[in-house]
Amino acid sequence: MERPLPDTTTTTTPTPPEVDRVAASRAAVAARRARATVKADVASGARSPLDVLRVAYEEPEGVEGRIRVPEFLTSIPAIGATKSTRIMTELAIATSKRLGGLGRLQRRRLRDFVADWVADHGGTGDRLVVLAGPTAVGKGTVASYIRRHHPDVRLSVSATTRPPRPGEVEGEHYFFVDDASFDRMIEAGELLEWATVHNAFRYGTPRRPVEAAIAAGNSVLLEIDIQGARSVRRAMPEATLVFLLPPSWDELVRRLVGRGTESPAEQQRRLETARVELAAVEEFDHRVVNHDVGEAAQKVVDLMRPRKGRR
Ligand code: 5GP
Repeated sequence: MERPLPDTTTTTTPTPPEVDRVAASRAAVAARRARATVKADVASGARSPLDVLRVAYEEPEGVEGRIRVPEFLTSIPAIGATKSTRIMTELAIATSKRLGGLGRLQRRRLRDFVADWVADHGGTGDRLVVLAGPTAVGKGTVASYIRRHHPDVRLSVSATTRPPRPGEVEGEHYFFVDDASFDRMIEAGELLEWATVHNAFRYGTPRRPVEAAIAAGNSVLLEIDIQGARSVRRAMPEATLVFLLPPSWDELVRRLVGRGTESPAEQQRRLETARVELAAVEEFDHRVVNHDVGEAAQKVVDLMRPRKGRR
């Protein structure tokens, strides 16, 4: 006997139980509210749009990541619907896109655009600027240049357990402390961030001078390693992170191994470290290429100046 074929022409979607639907709609309302709060904070200036982008890129499915690009752009003061459409066309981003759904290049284009926009339209310089970059890129040299040529820039003086090098002055280049003192500073919460650098000595940023300078309306520059930059970002999300890049990979290799004093194994280890460190560039707000120390220093200092009329 022939059995009837199952009917495949009509399929019924099972209705979710009432309790699930209520929960889902509550969650949707809460998510919409959370997104509205983010946009309101950007609109009022309470939150930097760069910080929103950073969180959206880190957590594409989080509150920030689920905001649509046009909604994000129009929450930035002085960007209206027309401007937002033009900007999206220029950046080649479809209006339906959410921040978390952007491709790698779109992310970068949007971030660069927002960084420039904030730079041109903000009223004051960035309060806390962190200069970091891979080993041997020359951030110490850029910081020394700033110390000599821009005496008005406040450079944070770190504490370190490393002994002083010839010519280094206590309280100017570093506060040189022993291990016990460094432990005490950590325990007392006196450090904004700290890290063990090159598996050797510990370095940390004293918290109080940074907070006092910012409270007084001044800007502060920190020249620290990449781990430290990440910690500052966690502790103070409004900080601006600047990544110093070498002119090319070959040039970095030359600077790393050029002296010829390290064994081939040590050279290899350093190159590997530099490769990993270079990948961190994506986490930073600005990139400055160190072709020329004076020019690189100027670009960093520019970020700390009041914005109007800035290049
Ligand atoms: P140096 O011993 O050559 O002066 O510095 C070594 C490394 O320590 C550099 O990469 C420098 O950026 C980093 N550094 C200096 N001060 C601090 C600090 O306060 N915190 C962190 N995390 N790194 C620092």
